[in-house]
Amino acid sequence: MTKKTSTRWNDIELEAAVDAYLGMLQKERVSEPFNKAEINRNLREGALSARGKSSVEMRMHNLSSIFIAMGLRRVEGYVPRDNAGTNIRSKIQAILESKGVSTSTSYVASTDIKSPNQKTEESSTDFLSPPPPGNKYPKSVTSTTTTYERDLKVRDWVLKNAKGKCEGCGQDAPFLLTDGAPCLEVHHVRRLADNGSDRTTNAVALCPNCHRRCHLSADGKMFTASLYERLNRLIIEDPDVNK
Ligand SMILES: [Zn+2]
Ligand SMILES: [Zn+2]
Repeated sequence: MTKKTSTRWNDIELEAAVDAYLGMLQKERVSEPFNKAEINRNLREGALSARGKSSVEMRMHNLSSIFIAMGLRRVEGYVPRDNAGTNIRSKIQAILESKGVSTSTSYVASTDIKSPNQKTEESSTDFLSPPPPGNKYPKSVTSTTTTYERDLKVRDWVLKNAKGKCEGCGQDAPFLLTDGAPCLEVHHVRRLADNGSDRTTNAVALCPNCHRRCHLSADGKMFTASLYERLNRLIIEDPDVNK
């Protein structure tokens, strides 16, 4: 086995690692397969000739942790391992910024000096932790949802009949849509998923707030009951009776 150095990584080495990491990210983004072992080997045949395989591998894991902390997406195959010092982190941030990758966090050297109104984490109950970095490039997920075919005539009739006012709260639609139509949504009082029918006797025009109230609120059931009372055209449907 050849003796590999354990000295601090220099800027050229760090940049080579960052380049390789960005390359893998790019491949992931376009769903192009890549071979991590091969990338590791190529690095050690080039700028990282002074480093061992596991040292390069550790650097990639460590880049994942740094990327995430900076609000960037990480390479899937490299679980974050947070073992880099502030010095390395700020160097990597500088390398990324020199490549036009904008990062959301600044790494500043830690200090013992606290301003008078700065609270320690232990003593404060209202300590607000720093905002989470999130993902600059959120992954897309494909999900399957069931949709029901709706009769556009029913929808249009319900919307027209509402005359721009929400049938839940009686208020004007909160704003107009780009086509000039009032922003109202057609809601099926007995949901289609619960065997509700797609007829004007089961559909109402609601403002987005009232619509969400039907679906999500703690008093959704009561609110739905009030719709039946309010609107004479609605007919309470029995879920067990086939429409
Ligand atoms: Zn409303
Ligand atoms: Zn709805």
